[in-house]
Amino acid sequence: MVDRLTPEARSRNMAAIRGKDTAPELAVRRMLHAMGYRFRLHRRDLPGCPDIVLPRHGEAIFVHGCFWHQHKGCAHAPRPASRTSYWLPKLAANVARDECNQRELRPLGWGVIVVWECQVRRDASAVARCLQRLLATD
Ligand SMILES: [Zn+2]
Repeated sequence: MVDRLTPEARSRNMAAIRGKDTAPELAVRRMLHAMGYRFRLHRRDLPGCPDIVLPRHGEAIFVHGCFWHQHKGCAHAPRPASRTSYWLPKLAANVARDECNQRELRPLGWGVIVVWECQVRRDASAVARCLQRLLATD
């Protein structure tokens, strides 16, 4: 198969598919950076390839899109009304994968923090305070 994408375009494409470097993720990174935390991104050697990892605090942060990860009770995570035979298993698999990744991270010594897209959009400074509180206890 011929691959016409430049490496650069390909990685942009992959980022879009995998939901990496999304606006809420960038916002969380910016706030952590502003608070002086050191972190690493997308550690592939960890279950679920967490979006942000704070090695010194032993915390893995996932910034989840509400729809893709089916944020419970969230207005931004509607149950698909059409093509349900396509969407429902797909979304259920995402949720199951998230739970599995979190279950695997904990015995490896990682705390897991999930930040939802809607929380960042609604009140980023509340998210920043919350993260600071969570990280201060480590
Ligand atoms: Zn949400």
